[in-house]
Amino acid sequence: MADDKPNDDKTVVASSTQSLTGSQNRSASPVLLQYDGGAAGKRFMLQNPVVLLGRRADKVQVWIDFMGSKAVVTDLGSLNHTFVNDVRVMQSAELAHGDMLRVGNVRLRYFTHGSADQLLFDRIYRMAVQDRMLDVFRREYAMERLEEEFRHVRTSQTELSFIMLDLDRFKAVNDTYGHDAGDIVLKDVCAAIKPLLGSADTLARFGGEEFCVLTSSPLHDAVALAERIRRAVELISIEYEGHAIPVTVSLGVANANEKSGGELLANAQELIRLADSRLYQSKQGGRNRVTAA
Ligand code: GH3
Ligand code: MG
Ligand code: MG
Repeated sequence: MADDKPNDDKTVVASSTQSLTGSQNRSASPVLLQYDGGAAGKRFMLQNPVVLLGRRADKVQVWIDFMGSKAVVTDLGSLNHTFVNDVRVMQSAELAHGDMLRVGNVRLRYFTHGSADQLLFDRIYRMAVQDRMLDVFRREYAMERLEEEFRHVRTSQTELSFIMLDLDRFKAVNDTYGHDAGDIVLKDVCAAIKPLLGSADTLARFGGEEFCVLTSSPLHDAVALAERIRRAVELISIEYEGHAIPVTVSLGVANANEKSGGELLANAQELIRLADSRLYQSKQGGRNRVTAA
């Protein structure tokens, strides 16, 4: 496999130490293509008979037995379950070319060989889900993920938090320094946020200069992440044509297991509304701040 370093402490993709005798041509190897999180787009070559996924505190949750031309995924009791094409794997399931595997928050697509098909699919997929300028996900993708994860939270008692963030007084940047300077600010803000995210977190452009982060963390951890984002953005130093452009963001955080008016949130839209109303409070409170419950 191409990389056996853990992505973070939540979901990792790693090969076992076992290796096949005899080498395989890389491009002919079956591959798992990661679709979500910080490592989205990463290809994991299946060159070992056993591939481990979703290792938490050194306890393996899912493994893929890859032998000859057959890949069989086995769930050893993972917390968030394992799905193949959205059907839960009760014990084991054989993967077929093109199958979508989901382990926790991370989706991976299985290809039996590195084909032109795979490259084309990958390209089309990226065009559909990615904001090209900022290299973050598009809103449509994030909303789809959010709805899916929200349902998952209600059926499996997992965690899901949503962070909404908006650049402060950004219109003034465009008005003072021009649109190109504004674009540089947007790129720098996204570049500052990405390293703070775990592999299962999703950063998306909600619209204009507004972004969101989906994370499978409890509220407390999501608030800490929001605060790290706020701080990192505040520390960015942007110089444009000899002028220092200050940049800050305001954030609102909400969790899917919160109650609003005594009732559990009914759907993903209510979770967004709650985070958005808190973002608004951050703006009202003077900007460059995080508001949660
Ligand atoms: P607030 O602190 O209340 O959020 O003030 P603001 O100025 O950030 O908010 P406002 O909604 O008035 O302005 C947002 C601006 O973001 C207006 C729009 O031109 C700019 N914007 C949106 N998308 C882009 C983009 O892709 N590039 C650039 N340069 N500007 C953008
Ligand atoms: Mg703004
Ligand atoms: Mg805005």
